[in-house]
Amino acid sequence: MYADILVEYTNKAIDKTFTYIVPDDLKESIKIGMKVKVPFSNKIINGIVLKLKKIYDGDYELKSIKELVNTDITLNKELLSLGKYLSEKTLCSKIVAYQTMLPSALKVKNQKHNYNKYDIYISLNKDDNIIDEYINNNPRSKAQIDILNKLKNNKILKSELSSSALKKLLDLDLIKEDYVQKYRINYEQKDDTKNIVLNKEQLSVIKEVELNDNKTYLLHGVTASGKTEVYINLIKKVLKTGKSAILLLPEISLTTQIINRFYNVFQNNVAIFHSALSDGEKYDEYLKIIRKEVNIVIGTRSAIFTSLENIGIIIIDEEHSESYHQDSNPRYNAIDMAKFRCAYNKCPLLLGSATPTLETMVRAKKGVYHLLELKNRVNNQELPNIEIVDMKDEYKNGKTILSSKLENKIKDRLEKKEQVILLLNRRGYSTVVSCKSCGYTYKCPHCDITLTFHKSNNSMRCHYCGYTKIIDKECPECKMQALSYLGLGTEKLENYINNIFPDARIIRMDVDTTSKKGSHEKIINDFKDHKYDILLGTQMISKGLDFPLVTLVGVINADASLNIPDFRSGERTFELLSQVSGRAGRDKVPGEVIIESFNVDNIYLKCVQDNSYEEFYNYEMNTRRKLKYPPYYYLVNIVISGKNLDETFKEANNVFRYLRKNLANETNVFNPTPASILKINNIFRYQILIKYRYDGYLINTLKKLDEMYANNKSIDFIVDFNPSRF
Ligand code: ADP
Ligand code: ZN
Repeated sequence: MYADILVEYTNKAIDKTFTYIVPDDLKESIKIGMKVKVPFSNKIINGIVLKLKKIYDGDYELKSIKELVNTDITLNKELLSLGKYLSEKTLCSKIVAYQTMLPSALKVKNQKHNYNKYDIYISLNKDDNIIDEYINNNPRSKAQIDILNKLKNNKILKSELSSSALKKLLDLDLIKEDYVQKYRINYEQKDDTKNIVLNKEQLSVIKEVELNDNKTYLLHGVTASGKTEVYINLIKKVLKTGKSAILLLPEISLTTQIINRFYNVFQNNVAIFHSALSDGEKYDEYLKIIRKEVNIVIGTRSAIFTSLENIGIIIIDEEHSESYHQDSNPRYNAIDMAKFRCAYNKCPLLLGSATPTLETMVRAKKGVYHLLELKNRVNNQELPNIEIVDMKDEYKNGKTILSSKLENKIKDRLEKKEQVILLLNRRGYSTVVSCKSCGYTYKCPHCDITLTFHKSNNSMRCHYCGYTKIIDKECPECKMQALSYLGLGTEKLENYINNIFPDARIIRMDVDTTSKKGSHEKIINDFKDHKYDILLGTQMISKGLDFPLVTLVGVINADASLNIPDFRSGERTFELLSQVSGRAGRDKVPGEVIIESFNVDNIYLKCVQDNSYEEFYNYEMNTRRKLKYPPYYYLVNIVISGKNLDETFKEANNVFRYLRKNLANETNVFNPTPASILKINNIFRYQILIKYRYDGYLINTLKKLDEMYANNKSIDFIVDFNPSRF
């Protein structure tokens, strides 16, 4: 038998299969989609079996496969074709595509480690009469007799028994060990199970989704309209037909609450995947799927690649989230991957959001997607009342962080024992530290940006490359004690609020407070249990969270996201502020929102204030049409990067000329410009933007360029289709 193997070699030029001999002892167990080890130019490397065949008619002298990496874990037929699609769609190599789909426990560095965890149970290995005879003949072996008696009609965990006596009994074959796989994650029943009766809107939405048809639906439902409940009930219906379901969520901070709700309904029928899991945990969750012990997978972006079979629905919650687009190789969008899988399984895809992207909404309006709406909050609670406070006036009165209005309302909620969420989308203490005497500012030596001050360990940090520098009181340049700390981050806000409300219990949630495993869950659960009065943080706290006691949301420095130079900054601001506003008043008491801004007349803020997606949509579509941006045009961003600035710039121009020459005349190719941050981690980056509606030459031209740069060691050529950031 022979096998065609795709080898794991980073060089793109050899992204093809090689034939190997399957040795006799592997013939029984080898399968297509399995990971194997093979000899390749004097080394042993990994590969994936793409084809098994009886005949080889080439004339090379073939080598043999060394071993199978893991016989439990294989890419099934669907995933093999999804991988092909992924590589075509993003121009990544096939091997990168397949690596993306396999659990990280199979990475080269991890292969030696055995991730299986077991509980060892001890039980009797002989009939009772033999055991009794042994007991009678050895009256002085107290410990042994004790164990044997305990084991009659019982299995006992090995760790609970005395080990010297055990060893003796094992040697005598009187008892035996049973290895039972132990999963690291097990569902826990949370006590807050609610008995929910679906309302009319929810019921009619559920009825409209046709389960055995490959259609895409957009569920546009205002915040707290009960979308999650719709997901749960659709999945219940799907499971009844014997099929399985995938639910994608944008980020880990959100998974905790939803996973708890799913555990309550579906118990251990759920596997979960997100970046905060350890390799061992991911491995276990993967096994649950392979062994068909679960029918539901919940996870972040990469969970779209799970080997779940017989899929009956895929649901993507908060579909507008940019986290569904991966910003590193392979640059895929999970929604595209979901579409492929739904078509493959002939099942529906449901996209849910209170603030869908324009790209999604325009399709829904055109009838490409089926539009489903939840126009009201559950219990017919009103959407929160939103006020915009002009910080120009507040500054005149010396109020630079909290306006008097927001301060008073926080005070009011604290007195009423209700909860408050404060959003400030910048972490750290101060965002700019400079010397008032000589003008020195702290900048990252590796990147083109200023460092952020983190007070907790008195350091300046780069949020791009992680560079950290402990600082003194004096300026490193002129040695004067004249450093000023400008700009506001979550750490400083926490300090400030603490000073104003010394009795309030405050918890901060951002990248810095959630680096420890389990910290997301802890913060969210503690806040839900009212161990804290105020939750403050970055965009992490804006989406999906459901805290019934939150009646006030404050947004500090709403302008931060408006000022980002990206054509989507308006859309992002609208989303972010609408989403965070949606955290207020989700239960009985109506909610209120205060937004602090220097641009009170800004159109996006007004749309948020009016709770009007429609108003935002109409305005933004008009702008996009005028400026030829998505959804009217497609974008591709080409990034050319390298260590040497001049060379990178020169190559960017070469690429530019090549594109101009080879793409359709109607396609716009823009001159190379420095990326929004020119240098990150000592790598310079130029970008070329391509705008087009239809271009039959595009894919082949980009493929050619990609091949041309595949062997170039000093320049990286990156293609990002429908990029989410610039
Ligand atoms: P969304 O996902 O649209 O923001 P959720 O599904 O989180 O909304 O629902 C908001 C809250 O309302 C949750 O606490 C949920 O348990 C509750 N809820 C959902 N549907 C109903 C219903 N039909 N009756 C009562 N409460 C409901
Ligand atoms: Zn840096």
